[in-house]
Amino acid sequence: MNLAHLLTRQARVSAERPAIFEGAQPWATHAQWARRCAALAKRLRAAGLEPGDRVLVFMRNHPRYLEILWAAWWAGLIAVPVNAKLHAAEVEWIIGNAEARWGFVTRDVAPHRLQGLVHQVDAESSEADDLLAPVDAWESVPITERGPDDVAWLFYTSGTTGRPKGVMLTHRNLTTMGLTYFVDVDAVTPDDAIVYAAPMSHGCGLYAIPHLMAGARHVVPASGGVDPAELFALGREVGPMSTFAAPTIVRRLVDHAESAGLGPDDAARSFKTIVYGGAPMYLADIERALRVMGPRFVQIYGQGETPMVATALSRRHIADAAHPRHRERLASVGVAQTPVEVRVADPQGVSPAPGEVGEVLVRGDTVMAGYWRNPEASAVAVRDGWLWTGDLGSLDADGFLTLMDRSKDLLISGGSNIYPREVEEVLLTAPGVAEVAVVGAPDAEWGEVVVAFVVAQPGQRPTEAALDAHCLERIARFKRPKRYLFVDTLPKNNYGKVLKTELRARLRAPA
Ligand code: AMP
Repeated sequence: MNLAHLLTRQARVSAERPAIFEGAQPWATHAQWARRCAALAKRLRAAGLEPGDRVLVFMRNHPRYLEILWAAWWAGLIAVPVNAKLHAAEVEWIIGNAEARWGFVTRDVAPHRLQGLVHQVDAESSEADDLLAPVDAWESVPITERGPDDVAWLFYTSGTTGRPKGVMLTHRNLTTMGLTYFVDVDAVTPDDAIVYAAPMSHGCGLYAIPHLMAGARHVVPASGGVDPAELFALGREVGPMSTFAAPTIVRRLVDHAESAGLGPDDAARSFKTIVYGGAPMYLADIERALRVMGPRFVQIYGQGETPMVATALSRRHIADAAHPRHRERLASVGVAQTPVEVRVADPQGVSPAPGEVGEVLVRGDTVMAGYWRNPEASAVAVRDGWLWTGDLGSLDADGFLTLMDRSKDLLISGGSNIYPREVEEVLLTAPGVAEVAVVGAPDAEWGEVVVAFVVAQPGQRPTEAALDAHCLERIARFKRPKRYLFVDTLPKNNYGKVLKTELRARLRAPA
């Protein structure tokens, strides 16, 4: 089934309900959204685009993001949403790889013409107004039928270890992802709202799908960015909102709540559910978030190759403080989501005993159809239906998965494996430490040594000796950092992931 049918279903059952908001201002009802999508779909086809052609979306968060995505699907096209923080040269590489002919951009993100596009539309221009000028009746424009295995969304990986790869996400993958939200993450009613508090080219935008399925409201902050004060105020105005946020955004929300003197009751007025994932959430951070903002968190673990769906740590498990292994569970990423099997395995595919570390494998209807025009990489990533995620983790006897690190971030010092995440968890509990990232630095004697990049809490400067003593009390001597480098911020991408490749490069660069 084409995802565009989700929109026409709502355009029938709740035509006049406001569906999209810019800030607190209504932008479109379901019927208007459908009439604009039908119009754009018709014009894209009239301009010569054929089913299966790719359309680039390189925009900041904007209400039109939703209109363009659904119009592309209506016309049977493949949407290529791209991280708004990419450099023009990186986007042009993606345009070439995807052979996208049309692209929708916002000027702040793409001030110049992008090479490779035949047609570039500024989503805020009068040309876009004309393209989206609604047809009288959306029923007059048939949805181009798509099979479940047709690609809907080409999701480019962040490419930290080489060129990005285009993950082919099908209509079936995304329909399954959407339905799974209701089972494993949260119930949604038409009175609920999702706020796009993180880039729509990633998880937050994917969650438009379950929220449209449920006929809920879609709120795009007027700033198009992530501003905690704006988000808290917006929630008070439109009613408690749900969102997807990387741990770094959660931290900013919590920092704001604390400094503004807001407690869990205030947080409840602004936020219904905050789904976090996309990067490690440390125990110290989630405990603080729960203290400050109350029980409104659910964790998911997934990756572009199985979007939003591998495991989930439910609100119930997060709240179950009486459970004897509650803290271990809080530090885990939860249990397999409903439509997938999850196991860990050694390189031969053999699963170790519970508690032993292996690579995380996922199988089920959310696993991608493969990488775009890259059968070699697809064959390595998906074998016998199992997606090899590149993440290392262990499953306990109850099925809770604890992630260690990506296999490429694993550190080997003096022949022993060291999981940076374990060292990070410990350092984050040291007084005065706000953020930390641990990487390996090449070393003639040990192969690699542990180096910690530390961001101190404002006005504090923990000493190396204090951090060293803190580690010695909690983890094996060989795991503790040999060097501490104090930095103002950690390099992160637009999706909130710490760029460890960049940190390692800093260590290799001549001083
Ligand atoms: P992406 O494909 O950009 O969504 O990145 C996916 C990767 O982010 C995964 O393979 C994990 O390494 C990491 N990741 C996603 N969710 C979590 C989570 N809940 N906890 C820790 N790491 C995560």
